[in-house]
Amino acid sequence: MPGIRTRFAPSPTGFIHLGNIRSALFPWAFARHAGGTFILRIEDTDTERSTPEATQGIIDAMAWLGLDYDEGPYFQMQRMDRYRAVLDDMLARGLAYHDYMSEAELDALREAQMARGEKPRYDGRWRPENATGRAPPPGVAPVIRFRNPDAGVVAWDDAVKGPIAIANAELDDLVIARADGTPTYNFCVVVDDLEMNITHVIRGDDHVNNTPRQINMIRALGATPPVYGHLPTVLTPEGDKLSKRHGARGVLQYRDDGYLPETIVNYLARLGWSHGDDEVFAVDQFVNWFDLSGLHPSPARFDPAKLEWLNQEHIKRLAPDVLAARLAPFVAARGLDVARGPALADVAALLRDRAPTLVAMAEQAAYFYRAPDVTAEMTAPLNERNRAALANVAAKLAATDGTREAIAALLKATAAEHQLKAGEVMMPVRWLVTGSGHTPAIDAILALVGRAEAQARIERGLAA
Ligand code: GLU
Repeated sequence: MPGIRTRFAPSPTGFIHLGNIRSALFPWAFARHAGGTFILRIEDTDTERSTPEATQGIIDAMAWLGLDYDEGPYFQMQRMDRYRAVLDDMLARGLAYHDYMSEAELDALREAQMARGEKPRYDGRWRPENATGRAPPPGVAPVIRFRNPDAGVVAWDDAVKGPIAIANAELDDLVIARADGTPTYNFCVVVDDLEMNITHVIRGDDHVNNTPRQINMIRALGATPPVYGHLPTVLTPEGDKLSKRHGARGVLQYRDDGYLPETIVNYLARLGWSHGDDEVFAVDQFVNWFDLSGLHPSPARFDPAKLEWLNQEHIKRLAPDVLAARLAPFVAARGLDVARGPALADVAALLRDRAPTLVAMAEQAAYFYRAPDVTAEMTAPLNERNRAALANVAAKLAATDGTREAIAALLKATAAEHQLKAGEVMMPVRWLVTGSGHTPAIDAILALVGRAEAQARIERGLAA
C-alpha cells in the first residue's frame, strides 16, 4: 500500500518521554511496513510553551531510535497563511461564521445554563441563520466558529478502539480562530491532515474527544476523513498516567544510561501492540510484523525492570564488534584508554551476559584498562595458606602461552600443589587482578589482561 501516509505531530512544549515517542513509533512502523510515507509535523502554535530546544529534542530522539521521516519537519507556525486562506474560504461558503459574543456574555450564558442544570454550550446566536439583520456590536473582535451539524451522529471505526459514535447534539460550534485571528489547534490539525494527504492518523487517545469535531470539519470541506487509531495511555507501574510528574524520563536519558535504541523500539512496540507471544525482536522484524490489528485498546503499563531485562537480551544478541562500537563512548567517558588493553570486542564478548546496560558494562570493563587501586577488600581474602600459591601463579604466568586454557591449567595445578581447592586460589587472584569478587571466569580475564600485567597486579597485591 504505497499510498499510505502517516504522521507524528508532537507539540514541542517540553521534554519527550517514552509515552510521547510511542506515538511516533506506530505511525512510522505502519508507513514503513506498507512502503508508505511518514511525516513529521511540529505543532508549535502554542507560542508561549513551544521552544526550539523541545523541537530539537524530538528530532534527536527520533534520530537515535531510527524513526526516519520522509517529509518535514513541517512547522505549523510557518503555515499560518494556509490556515487563514482556509478560514476565509469556510467563511465565504457559510461553513464557518463570525461570532461577536463578548466574554461577559459567554460567561452569563454559561452560568444560566448551569443554573438550569444544563451542560454549558454555545447557543448558536451568531449562526448566520440566527443573526440575519443583526449588526455586529461595535468594538468586539469576533472569533470564528465552525458550524457543526445539528443532527445525526459522527461515527468512525477506530483502528484500535473499534466503532465510536458521538451525537452531534453533544458538540457545539467550535472556535476555529481566536479574536486575534490565530487559528486554533483542532482546525490546524484538520487543514494539515487534509493538505498533507494523511491516510491514517495514529495518535494518543487523549485526542479521542477531538476526533468527531475534526471529522465534521473534514466532511464540511468536502473531503473523506482518514482512518483514526487511538493508542491507549501508557501508565506507570503505580497506575498513574506516565508523565514528567510521575517518573517519566526523557528518551535521550535512556541513551545516556546505556540503553540500546533497539531495546527502546522493542519495548515501546510491546506497549500496546503484540505479535503472538514474541517479546524480544529486532526493529526490522517489528516493521515486518506490524499491522494495526495488533494494537490493543487497554492501557499499557511501563515497567522499568522489564526494560532493563530487555536491554540485556538485546546486548547479548549484538555481535561483539558491533557491541564494542556501542560501548566505546561509554568506556571513553570513564577516562579509560582502550589502546592500553585488550581489544574492546573481546572484553564485550566476555561481559555481555552480565551487563544490563552499556553503562554497567563500561564500569565492569574498567579493570581491563586500568589496574584497580588496592583496597582492604581486595587483600582481605589473602592468608598464609594462599599467599605462597598466589606468588607461584604470578611467577609462572610468563612461562604459559597466555591462553585461557593454559592459565586455567596453571591455576588448578598450583592449587593442587599447595593442597588448596581451585577456588581458594582463583578467588584471591580475582580480587587482586580485578578489584571485584564478581566477574566472568578468572582464566578468561587473565588471558585478556595479559600475563605481565596480571603478574604485576598479583605481586602488587601480595606486597600491599
Ligand atoms: N500535537 C498533538 C500532541 O502533541 C498531537 C496532535 C495529533 O496527533 O493529532 O498531543
